[in-house]
Amino acid sequence: MNNRKSVIIICLAILASIILGFLVFYYLESIKFNQEKPTQVTVKTSNKPKAKEPKKAKPVKKPTKPKQKVEKKKPAAKSSCNSSTVHADPNQIDVIANKKHCLNPLRYVPKDLVQVNKAWLRKEAASHYRKMLTDANKSKASFWSISSYRSYDNQVVTYNHWVNTSGRKKADTYSARPGYSEHQTGLTVDLASGQCRFDCFEKTKAHAWLTKNGHKYGFIKRYPKGKERLTGYIHESWHWRYIGIEAATDMKQKGVKTLEEYWGIEGGDYPG
Ligand SMILES: [Zn+2]
Repeated sequence: MNNRKSVIIICLAILASIILGFLVFYYLESIKFNQEKPTQVTVKTSNKPKAKEPKKAKPVKKPTKPKQKVEKKKPAAKSSCNSSTVHADPNQIDVIANKKHCLNPLRYVPKDLVQVNKAWLRKEAASHYRKMLTDANKSKASFWSISSYRSYDNQVVTYNHWVNTSGRKKADTYSARPGYSEHQTGLTVDLASGQCRFDCFEKTKAHAWLTKNGHKYGFIKRYPKGKERLTGYIHESWHWRYIGIEAATDMKQKGVKTLEEYWGIEGGDYPG
């Protein structure tokens, strides 16, 4: 019996030591686990400020962008006789030239003038003029050019001639001052039919054909009847201006007669 008791006691002692061993092991593991948690939290919190850093940099970039936009708008051409910032580039087909808007530079010369029959026009206008003339001839509504591109110096001679002929006030109603003439853009042509020039041209078959078909080739009658106050010039049935097929067709469809109305540009008499 004593032997049995001693065996049982030994077994219990072994069992107790095993249980104690497990308890110590779990205790130590739990300490390790609890020690790891704070490090994970600190890692997470330390990441957040890093992610916010780029936001701090943004306000520095923002002020630089508006400055660049303002600088792009600055090149808009202005001069003492042309305050417009639109339709102001003489190299563009949509340039305006009237008594309120001179050409800038005043002595502008187109770089791509070509000759079509008797007309000197810019390349794009010339190519459309050629097609228009060919089709007009097929319809027996032929016309020819009295005058097309005129340089600044040529306009000095032309304008002075009309001032000497009928006085400055009357000359201003049908002849532009140098630097203000559409003829200097290389986009305009004065037309005649047979021996019929100027006022007579309105009664010709050519004028009727142009009134009906001119827009299909990008041309408009620039100084129509009843619009003298807007254009600054008397009705000139002979003076035709190239503005491109799209714009000319749009004007025709909308029934808009002048570029001043179509583009919302000030016209009329000279300032002052
Ligand atoms: Zn003209």
